[in-house]
Amino acid sequence: MQGKTSSVIDVSMANNFVKTHVIGIDVGGTKLAVGVADNSGHLLASGRIPTDPAGGSKSALERLVKLCKQTISESAVPVLAAGVGSVGPLDQKTGRILSPVNMPGWGVVPLVETLSDSLGIPVYLDNDANAAALGEYRFGAGRGVEDMVYLTISTGIGGGAILDGKVYQGASGNAAELGHVSIDYNGRPCGCGNMGCIEQYASGTAIARRTREALTAAGATAKTSPLIASAGSIEAVNTLTLLEGVRNDDPLSVKVWDETVLLLGAFMASVIHTFNPRRIVLGGGVTNAGDLLFVPLREQTRRRAIPQMMDIVDIVPAQLGDQVGVLGAVAVGQDGIQQSV
Ligand SMILES: [Zn+2]
Repeated sequence: MQGKTSSVIDVSMANNFVKTHVIGIDVGGTKLAVGVADNSGHLLASGRIPTDPAGGSKSALERLVKLCKQTISESAVPVLAAGVGSVGPLDQKTGRILSPVNMPGWGVVPLVETLSDSLGIPVYLDNDANAAALGEYRFGAGRGVEDMVYLTISTGIGGGAILDGKVYQGASGNAAELGHVSIDYNGRPCGCGNMGCIEQYASGTAIARRTREALTAAGATAKTSPLIASAGSIEAVNTLTLLEGVRNDDPLSVKVWDETVLLLGAFMASVIHTFNPRRIVLGGGVTNAGDLLFVPLREQTRRRAIPQMMDIVDIVPAQLGDQVGVLGAVAVGQDGIQQSV
């Protein structure tokens, strides 16, 4: 144990001229992705497999360990530690996943213990949104600032806050659950217990649902709505269908999208007022809308945020794309090494 600890110190102190390598492990509901990276986030080897949550946690962990070993072997470098960004809820003290909603039957999963025993290296864990925030901060769109908020707008809305260069964890590691900021005290009920959470309006899932509701309310059919005609049925209308409608100036699409951006603007102003960030990085599938989202969103946010706070914040797209999970986990591992010194 003594020898192991001192070797970590030696390499860490020599960080400026010796490359340290970390394996990043992204544990999600649909995929398990891993990658070995150097200090600057350059990936030497990587791999991914389906999570197959229905097969149970034991099988998933066994397959994950095998994938990690293969990837470390392919990288052909000594790997000092592992960082994990995982679907939650987590107990960070014990390194366990606690019965994730989307993975029925998983119960309590001893993730850190299993990985560290099998791989023989220290394993550091954080939730997936915090890991993604750290990944963008260190390797992506957050480089160069010390105060940054990361938001992912995909099937749900998640967030992570970097304050003074560190992930803000809160008292129990759950800070910055920004998808559950309410923008309407009497609004749509949310699974978290609150009403009017932004996730219920502006996640990819919620945007699609609101579009279908608007079509139903308008009595639209394939003959009267290009959205239904394009998707094949009202049930098949999703956020991509809506964006296509916006680009073609379909009035119903424009109305739903404008309202979405308005709600997101109100939400973003609250994020700015809470954290006073220098940069907000937006990732996730919905942000693939590009300027269609970013241009009006900056405008709507500016209308509501305190000018002195708005003037110093950039609202920018994420840069790591689908590597954000693995590179975020790499960053969690790097921070774990630093903090263990
Ligand atoms: Zn909620």
